[in-house]
Amino acid sequence: MPVFGRGRRECPFDLLAAAFRAEVEVLLPVLYFACSDFAIESILKVASTLPMECFFTLLRGREASIDRLSKFAADLPERLTDEIDEDICQKDEPCLKNAYYKDVSELINADFESYSGEHIVNAYLSRVCPHCNCFVVNEIERRRRDIWAEVPRFFGCPSWGILEEKFREITGSR
Ligand SMILES: [Zn+2]
Repeated sequence: MPVFGRGRRECPFDLLAAAFRAEVEVLLPVLYFACSDFAIESILKVASTLPMECFFTLLRGREASIDRLSKFAADLPERLTDEIDEDICQKDEPCLKNAYYKDVSELINADFESYSGEHIVNAYLSRVCPHCNCFVVNEIERRRRDIWAEVPRFFGCPSWGILEEKFREITGSR
């Protein structure tokens, strides 16, 4: 997601440091999250350019986000088979009874974009009928939104709702 028209891979660390110093709270969760996608080596390289408290928050949040996403990936196969409604599949033997995920461990440490429903189904789930496919994609997207809602908390920031309110106050928009 471009921030100020720049690709997130370019300089999120500079933007994070600037937003942190200027106390632009509204931007912090997105910037922390973008920075936390980088390998630890890249983060350590820029450590001296970040305010210390900002750097510590980034590391703590990075760990929280990796932990959350890894658990999501690990629990995914079992949860989806458990929770599918019986009348979704039109086949005699519901697809998800026999469906399986392959190499889902690749999702551990992957970036957040890799967690889209479409991508996970296409890359990791064995063949299922269109009804089951649609169900799984939607379920994954729902869970992904839940994780997105938790992103500010990983970095000790107020929720998106509160930040949105503050943003409206700053911009005077309603
Ligand atoms: Zn099916």
